[in-house]
Amino acid sequence: MRTIIIGGVAGGMSAATRLRRLDESAEITVYERGPHVSYANCGLPYYVGGIITDRSQLLLQTPDSLHRRFRLDVRTGHEVVSIDPDLKLVTVVELATSTTSTEHYDTLILAVGAAARGEVTFGDIPTHTLRTVSDVDAITALLERDNGIRSALVIGGGFIGLEAAENLVSRGLHTSLVQRGPHILTPLDPEMTVPLESHLRAHGVDVHTSTVIDRVDGGIVHLSDGTSQQPDLIIDASGVRPQTTLALTAGLRLGPTGGIAVDAENRTSDANIFAVGDGVEKQDARTGEPTLVTMAGLANRHGRTTADVIAGVAETNAPSLGTAIVGVFDMVAAKVGASETELRAAGAPLRVIHTHPASHAGYYPGAEGMSMKLLVDPESDRILGAQIVGGSGVDKRIDIIAVAMTAGITASALAKLELAYAPQFGSAKDPINQLGYVADNLRTGATRSLQWHELEAARTSGATLIDVRSAGEYAAGSIPAAVNIPVDELRERLDELPAGPVIVHCQVGQRGHTAARILTQHGIDAVNLDGGFRTWAAGAQVREPAVNVV
Ligand code: FAD
Repeated sequence: MRTIIIGGVAGGMSAATRLRRLDESAEITVYERGPHVSYANCGLPYYVGGIITDRSQLLLQTPDSLHRRFRLDVRTGHEVVSIDPDLKLVTVVELATSTTSTEHYDTLILAVGAAARGEVTFGDIPTHTLRTVSDVDAITALLERDNGIRSALVIGGGFIGLEAAENLVSRGLHTSLVQRGPHILTPLDPEMTVPLESHLRAHGVDVHTSTVIDRVDGGIVHLSDGTSQQPDLIIDASGVRPQTTLALTAGLRLGPTGGIAVDAENRTSDANIFAVGDGVEKQDARTGEPTLVTMAGLANRHGRTTADVIAGVAETNAPSLGTAIVGVFDMVAAKVGASETELRAAGAPLRVIHTHPASHAGYYPGAEGMSMKLLVDPESDRILGAQIVGGSGVDKRIDIIAVAMTAGITASALAKLELAYAPQFGSAKDPINQLGYVADNLRTGATRSLQWHELEAARTSGATLIDVRSAGEYAAGSIPAAVNIPVDELRERLDELPAGPVIVHCQVGQRGHTAARILTQHGIDAVNLDGGFRTWAAGAQVREPAVNVV
């Protein structure tokens, strides 16, 4: 039985090595059109930045090493140009010699990944994508060639665009970033990306949101926001699309997202052809609908599943949560599941929670703040998504929520998770437990909350806003027209409250919750501004990016 695998990186090589471990007698051939297989694409930006200094560290395997250990027949520099599913043949071109051959398969795995959205050039300005070892070879050669490369323009404020910007700054380049959408990192909600955008600017990245390249005259790039740049280098990180040309030659069915449609065993519309990785639709864990998620973990896992199925082991993919993380200049942003933007667009009923805990006990040196957002189905208490932005500890909290979502642990039940604690690692009430407490209070009705973007409408309808922070905090910056009554004085000053509903807020939401409980128990209609002043201030930046909130 011969299995041919097209594409020799994440999905393809996971399938190949797993299949060998399961079946010593299988004939396994991998065709890879590039010069390298099994390389660390996720490490590429850090090679550009000089953090990974040894290029060979990026090359995890070679055709020789894969043959020695796994007896794989790996052919680099070989492009598969068409598939004949009836005869079970692929046509392969050896690129160095342009020699064409046809090869028979019993089972075929397409692991061809995604492609940059389009080949775009900008006059004479050197422009590169950042997707392959060859890309970073070209970029680093340019950076090292002479001292002439001083500035760069990154197109795209997604995960790879941010990593590119960080690493170009590390190389001493004046770096600008243009992002078509209104905020960077589109999978996150806008108020969560505000601190990250500020952080990028503080590190010298010139961020232009809601901006595209209008035109290029000579070496000058004119942006749609009226500014212009004269970059020595452009990195195109404007996004990818599933690579489907080959699938189309075989008449394979594409799904509604434009990716190759597969079932839970990664089988395409042709029973002998499987497909995995960035070119393939995943199943969204929340909706069950097809979705595109281009992450290495999924490509690797689905490659493994495919090998199992081919070897006769009963295995299927788990649906995808879309868990992702990025680090930029020591700030970390992570997400899992759906965003508020997506859920509201889908008309999903929603409970939103913002918290701003410390990474570990505040009294132990080195605690860092983080902003957390949890999205909950108000009927079932099911966790629909989460986002966390901060420093240390973001990674473990997003992973805990990803595990909770996989296991079906509800939002309120996060309060009950027994997590490891010593002061340098967390808190006796870990940020995850705290999210659970807030979720439980909202579920049981012990507290009610209002979102930053709902405040204006609530006040227009007659609600009074009470700032329950200290007089000093209030003086340092407050929400316009908020009345300051510190929470510790609230019981004595109830008669100062006007009739009608009251919205309370503090810095991050915790004292606001206490204040709302006091008022509610005195018969006052009180809601807490979710996430307090900090979330509101981030929201104010979203509404009016130019406004500087103290
Ligand atoms: P790929 O790994 O892209 O491999 C596809 C291969 O198929 C390519 O080598 C291509 O040359 C080959 N191929 C295509 N067509 C043919 C053909 N006709 N014939 C022969 N060969 C062909 N994911 C994360 O989860 N975390 C990260 O931190 C992260 N960072 C990333 C950073 C960068 C710079 C990049 C580019 C990606 C990053 N990713 C990250 C995404 C991750 O690398 C991809 O999700 C993963 O590599 C997809 O695996 P794949 O097998 O589908 O495709």
